[in-house]
Amino acid sequence: MIPYGRQAISRQDIDAVVEVLQSDFLTQGPRVPEFEQALCKATGAAHCVVSNSATSSLHLACRALGVGPGDAVWTSDVTFVASANCALYCGADVDFVDIDPRTYNMSPLALEQKLREVREAGRPLPKVVIPVHLCGQSCEMEAIHALSKEYGFAIIEDAAHAIGARYRDEPVGNCRYSDIAVFSFHPVKIVTTGEGGAVTTNDEKLAHRMRLLNSHGTTRDSEEMTNESDGPWYYQQIDLGYNYRMTEMQAALGLSQLNRLKSWVAERNRLAERYDSLLSDLPVQTPWQHPDSYSARHLYVIRTAEDIGAAGHRRVFEQLRAGGIGVNLHYIPLHTQPYYRDVKDIRGSWPEADRYYKQAISLPLFHHMTEQQQDEVVKVLASSL
Ligand SMILES: *Cc1c(COP(=O)(O)O)cnc(C)c1O
Repeated sequence: MIPYGRQAISRQDIDAVVEVLQSDFLTQGPRVPEFEQALCKATGAAHCVVSNSATSSLHLACRALGVGPGDAVWTSDVTFVASANCALYCGADVDFVDIDPRTYNMSPLALEQKLREVREAGRPLPKVVIPVHLCGQSCEMEAIHALSKEYGFAIIEDAAHAIGARYRDEPVGNCRYSDIAVFSFHPVKIVTTGEGGAVTTNDEKLAHRMRLLNSHGTTRDSEEMTNESDGPWYYQQIDLGYNYRMTEMQAALGLSQLNRLKSWVAERNRLAERYDSLLSDLPVQTPWQHPDSYSARHLYVIRTAEDIGAAGHRRVFEQLRAGGIGVNLHYIPLHTQPYYRDVKDIRGSWPEADRYYKQAISLPLFHHMTEQQQDEVVKVLASSL
């Protein structure tokens, strides 16, 4: 089976992890802050806090922005469940915005329309909106940012797919158009630490709050305490935090992986463009690239033709799997998940997400994928169409 995604681990990666295992610190040593600094450098953000997953990082981001019961958080309808669950962890409500059929990202027009409708109906406007850079392609952040000023919401970028991507020639994660950006280092993503996540921000207070919550909400800084320190052993809990910390082994792996980020993203773009040309004569839609974006190409999602319908889409998908091609579907629209329908008052319609779901197929794309593997994918796809 040719997998849809796969990590690339080098000799240097292995040596970096082994070196940590032979050192004094397995957690809370020097590698974690080094990795955070390297991520600041890679993204251009002022602050970074790493954690044990992007799911944890999304939760920290929501908590830092004060999301709580009675608040509304909106995200894209086409994303992984984690983009929405962070709101539910905080006791908030969640709702979904329809996508742009060309980029599969949250549509700024659909967002604006939903904001207007909700305001006119006197229902609660979102406290936070979470645009997701699907497949590694940035959302239209300037437009979403302009809406945040008009309607008064904060922005968390779910950049789980987008480390190494650029928007308007600047790195995704520099938070020019957002409060916080979140990255994932799960093995199917671009850079891996096994499990792992990070937040970046330019806001020192948010960074401080997320760092505190990442490690139990306890402080050793007497300035932050509500009473006198009992002595040199003393720490005080000043907020209800978690243990979401990343280990030294993970940070060492991430640091080592980050050295190859630029070349990986360039290679993924080359392979994606090669797919574009190999597929140009087939009855499928290849992923359109917005001129403002340089995608990290985490996923290569094609759409089958409308006229073969949902049944035809399913047949093509099954034939690809039967032919040894590890295709996938990213993602099942969140509004169709029974869980969200049952627990929350989800309103609206998402026609573009519904159409996308009947057409989307993620073809294999990973670092070190060979042209022969790519040709095989295209051959099996062509015969199943
Ligand atoms: C993978 C992913 C997450 C969650 O990442 P983890 O590190 O596995 O917790 C969140 N959002 C999106 C869009 C993802 O693809």
